[in-house]
Amino acid sequence: MSEKVVAQDMVIGINYVLRLDDGTIIDQAAADDPLLYLHGHGNIISGLESELTGLQVGDRKSVTVEPTDAYGEYNPDDVEQHPRDMFPADMDLAEDMALELRDPETDNTYEAIITAVNDKVVTLDFNHPLAGETLYFDVIIVSVRPASAEEIEHGHVHAEHSHAH
Ligand code: ZN
Repeated sequence: MSEKVVAQDMVIGINYVLRLDDGTIIDQAAADDPLLYLHGHGNIISGLESELTGLQVGDRKSVTVEPTDAYGEYNPDDVEQHPRDMFPADMDLAEDMALELRDPETDNTYEAIITAVNDKVVTLDFNHPLAGETLYFDVIIVSVRPASAEEIEHGHVHAEHSHAH
């Protein structure tokens, strides 16, 4: 096996552009600032990771990722209406605002977007902002190196000469 092939436990550098169905660019990693990730550890969404396996440095690939392999289908049941007085009266609530809510019983936190608000009711959408979206990646493989034993153990890439966590 060549050492420059995208495979399990290799640290991969990619440039990419991520577009939605309507062509909007929502994320990218340009040539001077590639994304580094540890292949085979779920650092990037599964539908993209699996398509990069076997590519070599310099290869380009366009990858279409369906919602189920990205951020899930949009679930209308994850839109909830809550009474306005569940929130502090002096808290500014506005449409499109992102909130982080904590479930006191489980201590889990949930991200939600306010999709509507009036004096009585706040409508919260708990779907991921990219739920239901098909993702279109244009990827170039710019670097491949074997991961260190420590990186494999941790399941993520370490920056050179520093390990602060
Ligand atoms: Zn680490």
